[in-house]
Amino acid sequence: MIERIATPSKTKEIIEQNAFYFKKNYGQNFLIDANVLQNMISAADISDQDFVLEIGPGIGSLTQFLAENAKNVVAVEIDDHLIPILKETVGGYDNLTIIHSDVLKLDLGKLIAEKNHGNPIKVAANLPYYITTPILMELLEKEYPITSITVMVQREVADRMQAAPGSKDYGALSVAVQFYSTPHPDFIVPPACFMPRPKVDSAVITLHIGQNHRPEVTDRAFFFRIVKSAFAQRRKTLVNTLSATAGLSCTKEELLSVLETLHLSPTVRGETLSVEQFASLANALYPYR
Ligand code: SAM
Repeated sequence: MIERIATPSKTKEIIEQNAFYFKKNYGQNFLIDANVLQNMISAADISDQDFVLEIGPGIGSLTQFLAENAKNVVAVEIDDHLIPILKETVGGYDNLTIIHSDVLKLDLGKLIAEKNHGNPIKVAANLPYYITTPILMELLEKEYPITSITVMVQREVADRMQAAPGSKDYGALSVAVQFYSTPHPDFIVPPACFMPRPKVDSAVITLHIGQNHRPEVTDRAFFFRIVKSAFAQRRKTLVNTLSATAGLSCTKEELLSVLETLHLSPTVRGETLSVEQFASLANALYPYR
C-alpha cells in the first residue's frame, strides 16, 4: 500500500513539492479526509470485480482508494500540471490508467468499448462543481453502459437531483436525473474535509441506472422541451408557462383540454407534476410540437 494521499499533511507536501497552485476555474478542491473516501467506496459499492471511471483525479486522493478496491480504474484529468503529479502519487498502481483530457471532449463510448470490452462500468468522482450538470447529463443522456454514478457535488445540487414533485428544489434537473436513474442520497461532507475549503457543504449521491421504471415518451427531445418550459416561469400556471415558452402550435383552450384528458387541474403548476405525468403531458402535446 502506498502512503495515504488524503491527509492534510501529505496533500500539503505534494502541493508544495510540486509548486502546484489551485485553479479555481477547474473547480479544484481536494479531499483530505480518508474517512470520506472510504465512505465513498462503500457508497459506490466498489469491489474487485468493478471497472471504474473517475472524473478529475486531482492529486489522486480518491484514485488511490479506487485502485486499491476496484479491478480497473481509468481516471480522466484536464489539468496539465496534475499529470506528472499523478504519475508520482498513484503511478505505481498497475490497474490504473490516467488519461489527460477534458472529460466532455472524450468519446466515453469508445473508451468503455476499448478498456472494458463494452461491459458495464461504475463512475465515481469528486466532481468539479462548475460543470457538474453537463458532466452528469453527458453520462445519463448518452446511455453508456454505466450501472451507477457516485459523485460528490454541492449539497444544494444533490438536493435538487433527488427532490420530489411539489418541493422547492424540484425542477428540470430533478426530472432529468429521475427520468434516467434512481438517486440515492449517501452523506453530507462539510467544507473542512477539503483543501482549499469550498464555501458550501457538499454531498455524495449515487444514481442507480437501469433500476427505475422509465416512462414511455414519444420523443425524448420534445419531452425535455416541455419539462424545461414547465419550469421556465415557476410562478405561473402550467398552461401559462407552456403558452409563453414551449413554442406549441395550439391555443390555451386546446392546452386546457389536454390537461383535462390527463385529469390535471386547469390551474396546476408544473412543479407539482411527477416524471410520469410530464411524460403523459409531452406525449399528449406531441401533435402540437
Ligand atoms: N478527485 C480529487 C479529490 O477528490 O481530491 C480532485 C477533485 S476536484 C473537486 C475536481 C478535479 O476535476 C480537479 O482535479 C480538476 O482539475 C478536474 N477537472 C476539472 N474540469 C475537468 C474536466 N472538464 N475534465 C476532467 N477533469 C476536470
